[in-house]
Amino acid sequence: MRPMFVPGVLAASFSLMALPGAAQTAAPASQPVLVIHGGAGVIRRENSQHDDAAIRRVLETALRNGYAELQAGKPALDAVTAAITVLEDSPYFNAGKGAVFTHEGRNELDASVMVGNGQRAGAVAGVQRIKNPILLARAVMEKSPHVMLVGQGAESFAKSQGFTLVPTAYFHTDKRAGQLRKAQLQEAGKQVANTPEYLRYIGTVGAVALDAAGHLAAGTSTGGMTNKRWNRVGDSPIIGAGTWADGRCAFSGTGWGEFYIRTAAARTTCARVEFENESAAVAGAAVVNGDVVRLGGNGGAIVMTANGDFAFPFNTEGMYRGWIDASGQPHVALYVDEGLRGDVLPAPAGQAPAPAH
Ligand code: ASP
Repeated sequence: MRPMFVPGVLAASFSLMALPGAAQTAAPASQPVLVIHGGAGVIRRENSQHDDAAIRRVLETALRNGYAELQAGKPALDAVTAAITVLEDSPYFNAGKGAVFTHEGRNELDASVMVGNGQRAGAVAGVQRIKNPILLARAVMEKSPHVMLVGQGAESFAKSQGFTLVPTAYFHTDKRAGQLRKAQLQEAGKQVANTPEYLRYIGTVGAVALDAAGHLAAGTSTGGMTNKRWNRVGDSPIIGAGTWADGRCAFSGTGWGEFYIRTAAARTTCARVEFENESAAVAGAAVVNGDVVRLGGNGGAIVMTANGDFAFPFNTEGMYRGWIDASGQPHVALYVDEGLRGDVLPAPAGQAPAPAH
């Protein structure tokens, strides 16, 4: 089938186009690197001009706070949780405060972490009163014999671990309430839908890091998708779908979660690194811009390998994203055309893919 674009989403292509400088070796194994995302979606200059500077500042703070952990010799997981808590606390992202609303007008939050060294993992899904779900996912990994806890049970565990539960109103923002109203109007057919399904997610957050000891970690936190029902759980808290880390590779995804689950996107990407010896860019593009898109989904991801290579494969109109290394200078981008180092985009229609590297 001839590849073609529809606005903001690649309809039928699985090739990749690496921007100049994409996925160059960032650092030797002992040189820490932190990479974050704040969600993929339709992110346009004309819609973001009021928030643009503020969003960049939050991304930079997340990178600086996370990188401070690595500079202090702390493990990659500390950098991941330090960065993600900044993003969860900001109303600009669909995680923690500012999470999207369910059909019933609730906020149901999902999060997961994974550590490459020993492949330990923790996850929570459908929690409603946890300010920083990423910290609860970490507690599940470190303080329980389990990997994944959901709903009230997860909140009981949180209380047993000394977490303070916040009122559900803490998560409310008028912007997300408006997005729910719009989605429900469209659902009811009261408005001609020119806001397609994929507009419903923007702002899941995630981080991957390589520490001075050469170990990788990954984490992802989200409110899921606007207007979700029936206690729907997406890919973000599912180890192997939205999050993965092993000795060679770490991944955090953002996008239409059902497709990340159906492609086991996180694990499949890292399996390509493991078995095919592919780079972060090639493996990430094959799955995010290939497998996910072929099934009808879309989104993005951050991928890092143990030599410090990293990549931002995505096929939406934008993705909040950034990286920082030993220079201490955060680099962030919001839009598709900013050409951030590591960006890996699908090839435009009719254009041959750039050679894989
Ligand atoms: N992947 C998330 C989910 O499906 C949404 C997102 O990334 O924005 O729950």
